[in-house]
Amino acid sequence: MLQRVDFNPAKKLLSREALDAYDPQSESWQKQFARRYTHHAELDGVLNNIENVNETVYKKFAIAITPYMAKLMDRDDPNCPIRLQYLPSHFEETKPGFATSLDQLGEEGDTVPGTSVVHRYPRRVLFLVSNTCATLCRFCTRKRMVSQPDGSVAKDEIEASIDYIAGNQDIEDVLLSGGDPFTFTDERLDYILGELRRRAPHVRFLRIGSRMVVQMPTRVTPELCAVLEKHRVQMVNIHINHPKEITPLLRERVKMIQKAGIMMGLQTVCLKGVNDDVAVMRELFMQTIEMGVRPYYVYSTDMVEGAHHFIVPHRRMLELYEGLRGWISGPAIPTFVVDGLGGLGKLPITPSYVREEELPDGSGTTVKCRNYKGMTIEMPGLGQDFHLPSRTN
Ligand SMILES: *Cc1c(COP(=O)(O)O)cnc(C)c1O
Ligand code: SF4
Repeated sequence: MLQRVDFNPAKKLLSREALDAYDPQSESWQKQFARRYTHHAELDGVLNNIENVNETVYKKFAIAITPYMAKLMDRDDPNCPIRLQYLPSHFEETKPGFATSLDQLGEEGDTVPGTSVVHRYPRRVLFLVSNTCATLCRFCTRKRMVSQPDGSVAKDEIEASIDYIAGNQDIEDVLLSGGDPFTFTDERLDYILGELRRRAPHVRFLRIGSRMVVQMPTRVTPELCAVLEKHRVQMVNIHINHPKEITPLLRERVKMIQKAGIMMGLQTVCLKGVNDDVAVMRELFMQTIEMGVRPYYVYSTDMVEGAHHFIVPHRRMLELYEGLRGWISGPAIPTFVVDGLGGLGKLPITPSYVREEELPDGSGTTVKCRNYKGMTIEMPGLGQDFHLPSRTN
């Protein structure tokens, strides 16, 4: 038996029978939220071969798993791509040989004082509204705030953030994230989005990042969609890392968001053992585009504490990209990025298909091209700039 901590047994589905019989659509999302597993030992009667990790992993990052997500986990296989993302492992306590921290993207440094707005890029801001998620990912890049008692975003910080955006005419794009903005009630979201639209009419593009859509699709209700539509949210980005996370229930709720006239994007984290495989990625992005959701970014795993075992080497990421470009539908191919340490920002990871080289006789340059199958051709005309005299008439 694994060691147990205190929990409310009435709410939790501690046996396989109870979990199998559970229908996430039978109750409100808030009720399912209260049933989340918050210790690996609580899954003892539900899954086999659970790694009995040291309690100290909880000191750094909590565990939370919705019953819906637990139902998707393989009962026996410890390498199930969903189990790997959500169950803690002893690797979290090993040292990687390079420095990790809780804020390796330097977001604190770019946060506007007194607010939860990260203003790093021109004309757009990241507005961190919530410090909770429905299910906690072991590789989370925002461990500094997500599920941390002192990471919560106070009401006055939200007000100060809206003030900042309202007072800064240059901001034309606001991305609500966290944590997960959909952990808020519809009323709270209605208020925040309404204030943003009312007080910052210069904001042209309003988008929300949420993994809760995937972790607990029943969060998406007609009422939530009405709030998003009312405040003209233009884009909802969801986060899926493996095709196993795509279910009929998810497809149904994604359609509900789309019917509210909202464009949808996908973000994916490249994770060793989960999706660092060409076939898995092709299937994930084709299933996503089939839903009408556009793959947007594939992120390199960040060098956050307790996640180094998920990092996929840079050269492998280039190979994965090459396994997509040319091989599957263009619109299904996301941009691969690495978020530079200390606030450098997102940097595209792109293999070079087109390269300019000096001609051997020094007379100029030529452009060397390589296609997805490895065929090459030189295009000397692209190495020159034909300076045309200005046209007159
Ligand atoms: C990712 C990110 C954005 C949005 O970037 P896009 O490339 O426009 O999607 C904005 N601010 C911060 C701090 C970010 O990390
Ligand atoms: S959903 Fe995103 S913010 Fe939430 S725990 Fe996972 S990675 Fe972190």
